[in-house]
Amino acid sequence: MTPGPTEVPEPVRQAMGEPTPNPDLEPEFFEFYRSLTDKLETVYGAGDETGGDDRDVVVLGGEGILGLEAAVASLVGPGDRVLCLSNGLYGDGFTDFVENYGGEAVVSEVPWRETLDGNVVADAIDRGGEFDVATMVHCETPTGSLNDLEGILDVLEDRNVLSIVDAVSSLGGTPVPTGQIDVCIGASQKCLSAPPGLTTCAVSDRAWRCMESVNNPSLYADLEPWRTAAEEEWFPYTHLASNLYGLDAAVDLLLEEGLEDVFARHEEAAATCRSRAADLGLEPYPTSEADCSPTVTALAVEGRATELQQAVLEDHDVLLATGLGDLEDDVLRIGHMGHNARVDRVERTMDALADVLG
Ligand SMILES: *Cc1c(COP(=O)(O)O)cnc(C)c1O
Repeated sequence: MTPGPTEVPEPVRQAMGEPTPNPDLEPEFFEFYRSLTDKLETVYGAGDETGGDDRDVVVLGGEGILGLEAAVASLVGPGDRVLCLSNGLYGDGFTDFVENYGGEAVVSEVPWRETLDGNVVADAIDRGGEFDVATMVHCETPTGSLNDLEGILDVLEDRNVLSIVDAVSSLGGTPVPTGQIDVCIGASQKCLSAPPGLTTCAVSDRAWRCMESVNNPSLYADLEPWRTAAEEEWFPYTHLASNLYGLDAAVDLLLEEGLEDVFARHEEAAATCRSRAADLGLEPYPTSEADCSPTVTALAVEGRATELQQAVLEDHDVLLATGLGDLEDDVLRIGHMGHNARVDRVERTMDALADVLG
């Protein structure tokens, strides 16, 4: 019950055991890849049939971090000014990528117990001058908060700033405003409940055009070749065929259940988790309950996270996560994402936590 990697259901594991094709040479494989990216467009709410603004989805062979790096490497060149919005560890982390690729990172931050706000962003732009790109995180997994991005994306659209959004721990668990985002990053091992190894990017036309003028020094972390890969049937490197089979089965499960029902299942699991926590006298880390993510609950446990994590694992065989960085011992995290976003699993987890606290 951690906030990723999540439990991988049986049909996904079976799909990974299918005979391995040659992903560079078999035409059927490209056909399969195109059908997978079409389905992912639906998950992103970015397909033609969903009525959202059109975005192209590409799948890269690598963990979620590759998607974050590829987005920055592909859009940020030397001297570009990037507004890094932050209310947490992943938000801060974008500055490293930006600086590695020669960009100037300007951080606009709010306290970690709060969420990003469109007015703060407008102020930062008005004070800080022109920006080429802005980066932000949808669900800050380490602190369990979900940023409401629509107002911020309106401001950025208005000021003609490209947006990069890390939606790794929200995509497939709660609606993501992909239609307003230039590069929106997901990963296989969170709400999609496939094993780690793949990252997905939904890319706008405007972002593809911008990449033409950025000289990206990285070969592996480059989105541009993927613009035409499916059509021209040429991948920049041998694709992770078995992982793609697994992801395809995972996406099928999601679409068969129906996205609305999947999102409702996450909301219900999260509400159960918070209410059971309240019964135990535990508060969420985010100040406002409205900011809590439906995919992960972070509880403020002042100095007890590691001890509780170990006891719950030893006594009840349930794995939880602690906080990260400075918050390691002060935050206990319960993932209810993907296959694990089920009330019965949350109940069992909270029974275990109740027993240990008792
Ligand atoms: C999981 C996650 C990533 C990917 O990072 P890993 O911890 O290496 O899997 C990126 N961003 C967010 C918000 C995540 O939760």
